[in-house]
Parts: sequence; structure tokens; C-alpha cells
Amino acid sequence: MNAEVIIVGGGIIGCAAAYNLAKNGVSVLVLEGSENIGNGGSTRNGGGVRQSGRDPRELPLVMYSIEHIWPQLSDMLDTNVEYYQEGNLRLGSTPQHQKILTGLADSAAAHGVDVRMITGDEARRINPYLSEAVTCASWCPTDGHANPLMATMGYYKMARRLGAHFISGEKVVELRKIKGAARQVVTASGNVYEGDKIILAAGYESRFIASTVGIDVPMQQVLLETLVTEAVGPMFWQMLGTADADFYGHQTEHGSFVFGLNSGLEPYAKPGKPLSSSIAASAACRGIMHYFPDLANIKVVRTWAGWMDACADHVPVISKVEEVPGLILACGFTGHGFGISPAVGLVLSQLAMEQETAVDLSALRYDRFQ
Ligand SMILES: Cc1cc2nc3c(=O)[nH]c(=O)nc-3n(C[C@H](O)[C@H](O)[C@H](O)COP(=O)(O)OP(=O)(O)OC[C@H]3O[C@@H](n4cnc5c(N)ncnc54)[C@H](O)[C@@H]3O)c2cc1C
Repeated sequence: MNAEVIIVGGGIIGCAAAYNLAKNGVSVLVLEGSENIGNGGSTRNGGGVRQSGRDPRELPLVMYSIEHIWPQLSDMLDTNVEYYQEGNLRLGSTPQHQKILTGLADSAAAHGVDVRMITGDEARRINPYLSEAVTCASWCPTDGHANPLMATMGYYKMARRLGAHFISGEKVVELRKIKGAARQVVTASGNVYEGDKIILAAGYESRFIASTVGIDVPMQQVLLETLVTEAVGPMFWQMLGTADADFYGHQTEHGSFVFGLNSGLEPYAKPGKPLSSSIAASAACRGIMHYFPDLANIKVVRTWAGWMDACADHVPVISKVEEVPGLILACGFTGHGFGISPAVGLVLSQLAMEQETAVDLSALRYDRFQ
């Protein structure tokens, strides 16, 4: 099967790129290695859509997404992606936290983000469930959260409705060049697909696939864990985080709280299937109860884990490749690719269509490590 653009990986990045291409009448084929679309980080993540605490090289992508895409996304995709733009509180309780948060807030503000430091009392006026332990916070009123499963599936369904083809259970093992340009995509089942452009959006596995045409993106696979609680009545809608990044989360539309966790042991996780440990949820719950005592009696109903594609310098590679014309890389999202995914899908389609991109991508080039 041939297509103008072949996308490797059916996560939110691949699905968003497919949607934008199909909308422009480009023929698209998405090859997903697992049996299920969105089986990677895209449907396992914490749903944060934040500018605060983000590397300046990535900020234009999230600012574009928040200004131009997230507020319209439910209508665009005909799917409720449960986007709430109710702000982000990043919490602290020590002078060291104050220092960390002030540094992050100053850096973001210098790049045009509306984020500022507030006192513990000001934070409690925004979120009355916060304990007296909170002495400082950064506050970004334009940040928010969305439902990762709904957003990924929304992009997938609308891309299909617009004519994009998806094949799941089709694991890509090799790219091949013809006359010097990336052209063929070979799968484990022996099928060979041909495209004018190939977008590589297969998370960490992109490293091995890119290596078949001699390109290396320095990435590691690192575990991230999440928990979800039983549903309770509405309490608050802000996205939450902490100075130490030991937990982050929000209350979802149907009442559950979803918290991303960090125990510090993630780099030592066993390779293979991503499994949640017995340590991270209990460690994070102690932190959550310290800041939100009213959540102490809400039951945790499930934990899960997912891999992130951690890039050497913690920001993604979103780039054409000069040595391999036709190849476009979109990987290394380092645990924060969900919030920027609407703009990433757009710019990937623009790269594939040889158009000027809506956001300058020069800081995210593949050859920056040289
Ligand atoms: C627990 C957790 C919490 C997170 N929290 C947040 C958050 O709050 N905010 C935020 O912005 N980001 C968050 N992230 C990160 C975010 O989920 C990712 O950056 C984003 O989903 C990346 O999307 P993707 O499409 O590149 O990757 P993926 O969703 O991993 O998609 C890659 C796809 O490629 C497929 N694939 C792999 N190998 C092959 C192959 N050989 N052939 C074909 N297909 C292949 C995979 O099966 C997968 O479906 C979190 C991630 C995790 C795991």
C-alpha cells in the first residue's frame, strides 16, 4: 500500500499529524505496532496542558496549542476532550521550594507566559482545599488539563473520517532509502509500504527505527506512573503540581482524581511491559495528603505505568533530516508531549507538505547534539 505520507506510531502525535494531513487532502497511512491505537504514553498520561515549568524551547508549541487549538479541539474533533483551562498551581512548603518555583516562574514570565509567585494564603483563596503546609506557589491562570484518552481517540476518529488509513498490529522494523531518500517502510510481518514522506512518531522505539537509516536520536526509556481515585463530587478544576515534581494531577470531569507520581526510582524500572510499583503510589499519596488533607479518605482504585521517551536534553526532536530527505522525526517528548500535541500535529503536517511551520522549530532540530 502506498500513501503520500506514512506515519509510524499511532499515539497522539501520529494521530494529530494524520488528522492535519487528511484535513488538507493528503493521503495518509498510519502504522501502529501494537494492537491498539494510543497504547503508548498517549492514553496513560496525567493530562497536563501547561506552560509553567516548561523548557523555553518547547514553550512556543504549548502557547500556540493553548491560544489556537485546545479551546476549539472538542468541536474540531467532534469529541469532548474535557479541556479545562482553570490554571496551574505549583505548590511549595519550604524556602528551597520557593527558590525552585521562583526560578521557574521568572523563566516562563521572561518568555511571555502569565505566571507569577503567590503566597500560601493567595493559593488557598484559589483552592480552599489546600492545607496550611503550603507556603508558596506559582500560579499560571491560562494552564489547564484535558482527557488524554478522549483527545487521542478524537484525533484518531476524525483522521479516519477525513480519509486517513490506520493499520494496527503492524510493527515497523526498518526504513529503506530509494535514490537517497526515505521511501519504504518495512514491517515485522514482511510488508513493505511506500510513501513520499515518512513521519517517525513511535516514541522511544523511534531510536531503533531511525538507526536503520543511520540516524541516532539520544533517548532513554524511563517509567512514569499514575493513579486514579474513585469519583467524588466536584472539588476544584486547577491542574496541580509541586516544586519537587513528586506528584501532579487534577480532578476529572466525572469526579475521579488522576495523579501522576514520582518516587525517584523510575530510572531503575525493569525493561519490558511498563508496570506500576508498590512504592510510587504510596509515596505520592503521603505528599498529596500533606497538601490536600480532604483527599485522605478517597480510595485509589487503580495505578498504571507507561514509558516516556526521555531525550538527552529533555525536549523533543521535531525535525526534517538533511541526510535522509523525506524523513521527519517526532520523538523524545520526555514526558510532556501531551500538552503540545495539537501544535505538534499541525507543524508535522506542515513539514510534510513543505509549508512554513506555524511555530519556529529550529531549537528542536535533530542535529543539535552535534
Ligand atoms: C504516566 C505518564 C504521565 C504523563 N503525563 C503527562 C502530562 O501530564 N502532560 C504531558 O504533556 N505529557 C505527559 N506524558 C507524556 C505524554 O504522554 C507523551 O509525551 C505523549 O503521549 C507522546 O505521544 P507519542 O504519540 O509520541 O507517543 P506514544 O503515545 O508512546 O505513541 C507512540 C506509538 O508508537 C507505537 N510504536 C512503537 N514502536 C513501534 C513500531 N516499531 N512500529 C509501529 N508503531 C510503533 C507505540 O505502540 C505507540 O502507540 C506522560 C506520560 C506518561 C507515560
